[in-house]
Amino acid sequence: MSMEEQPHDPLRDVGELVDSLRLAGIRFLPRQVPGFAVPVLPVAATPVLSVEQTPAEPARPVPHPLPVPPVPVVQAPPVPARTITLAPRPAPVAPSEELFALETVNESSTQGLSLEERAARLAALADQVSRCTKCPTLARERTRTVFGIGPLDAELCVIGEAPGAQEDLKGEPFVGEAGQLLDKILQACGFQRSQVYICNVLRCRPPANRVPELIEAQNCKPFLEATLDLVRPRFICLMGATAGRTVLETGSGIGALRGRELFWRGIPLAVTYHPAYLLRYPEKKRDTWEDMKRMLARMGRAVPP
Ligand code: SF4
Repeated sequence: MSMEEQPHDPLRDVGELVDSLRLAGIRFLPRQVPGFAVPVLPVAATPVLSVEQTPAEPARPVPHPLPVPPVPVVQAPPVPARTITLAPRPAPVAPSEELFALETVNESSTQGLSLEERAARLAALADQVSRCTKCPTLARERTRTVFGIGPLDAELCVIGEAPGAQEDLKGEPFVGEAGQLLDKILQACGFQRSQVYICNVLRCRPPANRVPELIEAQNCKPFLEATLDLVRPRFICLMGATAGRTVLETGSGIGALRGRELFWRGIPLAVTYHPAYLLRYPEKKRDTWEDMKRMLARMGRAVPP
């Protein structure tokens, strides 16, 4: 007979129970008090469950939580106030009423001035520009204004769009990557940078190098015209659509302006692509070189092959 087939023995069950109690360390069991009858509680009828039904698990008794001693409240030491030192901002620039005295700097008012007087007026104009706030956003965002650079009576004046990040930091036009390309173009034309007057339509850097707004170009145009009246270049090269539109006061695009014999106040003028544009579209360098050769021919200079 196998173990699974042994008959049920109650005595053996009681013996095993006593052994387990002894092993659990229980030596005595309470005796029933004589004359005290344990009440027999009615037992609820156990429902008959089908094979598929599972009785719900009875709710487990939640042990009574142990008393938790109160946590003492510790006051954090006060944090000393930090002192933040801000870099000093430039002093706010007062709106310059003298901006509108620019009418005194025009073509006729500069006639008869000596070279020194024109240089002095140009320096005064640069000082006036440095305090200009006509374009509030540009005046607030700029590091410094970027005036033109180059000799008076320059044989050639190059006019670009607006200062970029490098120009804004240095205060000189065309000193970034586009400026290096301009230097190469000028050298190919037989010019040293120092022989050319270089400036932009705007004297302040537009935020994130965005295209200047029309109102900004209009605001700054009197400065550009006054500069040209004092510098008196013999030839002007407009680089980029913004320069073309602003100086020539036209809505025509650069494609319509290139290759034409144009003038500004009697000064011969050519329009070509901006060096920054050539950096993005190098295939336009060939067109620019053709523009430069036409310009040199109009200037009466030797045209490289
Ligand atoms: S861009 Fe020209 S007009 Fe505008 S704030 Fe600068 S200097 Fe003045």
